[in-house]
Amino acid sequence: MVFRTLVLKLAAFKPFEKLTKSKLFRPLVKRFVAGEDLDTALKVGEDYVKQGYLVSMDLLGENVATKQEADAETSAYIEMANRIIASPQRDAMNISVKLTALGMDLSDEIAVENYKKILDVCKPHDIFVRADMEASQYCGRTVKIIEQLFANYTNCGTVLQAYLHRTPGDIQTMIGLKARVRIVKGAYLEPDTVAYQIKSKVDEMYVAGAKTLLLDGNYPAIATHDEKIIALIKEFIKQEAIPRERYEFQMIFGVRRDLQEMLLKEGYNVRIYIPYGAAWYPYFSRRLAERPANMLFIAKSLFKK
Ligand SMILES: Cc1cc2nc3c(=O)[nH]c(=O)nc-3n(C[C@H](O)[C@H](O)[C@H](O)COP(=O)(O)OP(=O)(O)OC[C@H]3O[C@@H](n4cnc5c(N)ncnc54)[C@H](O)[C@@H]3O)c2cc1C
Repeated sequence: MVFRTLVLKLAAFKPFEKLTKSKLFRPLVKRFVAGEDLDTALKVGEDYVKQGYLVSMDLLGENVATKQEADAETSAYIEMANRIIASPQRDAMNISVKLTALGMDLSDEIAVENYKKILDVCKPHDIFVRADMEASQYCGRTVKIIEQLFANYTNCGTVLQAYLHRTPGDIQTMIGLKARVRIVKGAYLEPDTVAYQIKSKVDEMYVAGAKTLLLDGNYPAIATHDEKIIALIKEFIKQEAIPRERYEFQMIFGVRRDLQEMLLKEGYNVRIYIPYGAAWYPYFSRRLAERPANMLFIAKSLFKK
């Protein structure tokens, strides 16, 4: 956790951002980002589907500051949705979106209006559009938005982060609604007033939350690359005889391809989260912070030549 904190703090420095945007880091960026445009990313997504995976397409971008930017993001999502609808692989595809890309920093109303526009396009085609969970100041607001929209849009759902103290309550709220939840550990820098800081505690909360969702939730997504947790969850699923069509595993494009393949071969539903777009830096820095080896790659590259 200390490493993660340091990297996320470092990522806020402009010279570091400039460095990672240099040519030197293209290979590392390419590992985590499926491309800068929709055509490239859709092709990546369709190729995954042909191998038997499910996918969730994510246009990178967050915290837009103007209504024009929020509208442009919404239009880009609608274009993505229409391309998915036209794709022969559409049954295996869904969408992930960040509400701050749709204008949540301007107002919740703007974000809701834009989210609804995307949901409206997707609803007749049964395409699910999940609101990713961002930093903790957005969590309660995101949960409220899902509560507000779910009656009319059963194709909306969200993500809950095991590190937040409030998450067990939010899990119950989502179970009550019957809304779909992706459970993750949590990727942002959060103070100890709102989030657990010790990895073993976050892992414990993750397993507890995932089990609750598997028993009582609506098609939960178990999103982690943690081998130990995956093994525990598989054991629990077996014990409780939970059928495979009642949940899915999710992993991020470029992370633990070996595990993705293993789960797929074992017959589980595995969805790959596929991010694309030019605004990749904040997403990329969160991925760097998750694993010391990623930073080591950067350090090594700097000392080469
Ligand atoms: C599909 C998906 C969607 C997500 N959506 C959100 C969201 O909406 N909001 C949010 O806050 N977080 C989100 N996350 C990120 C999540 O919160 C964690 O930060 C991230 O998944 C790392 O935690 P972990 O569960 O993999 O476990 P960790 O304990 O962090 O990692 C376990 C192992 O996985 C491997 N690993 C993990 N991350 C990386 C990496 N970046 N590079 C290389 N290897 C790695 C390493 O081998 C590591 O030892 C998402 C994660 C997934 C898989």
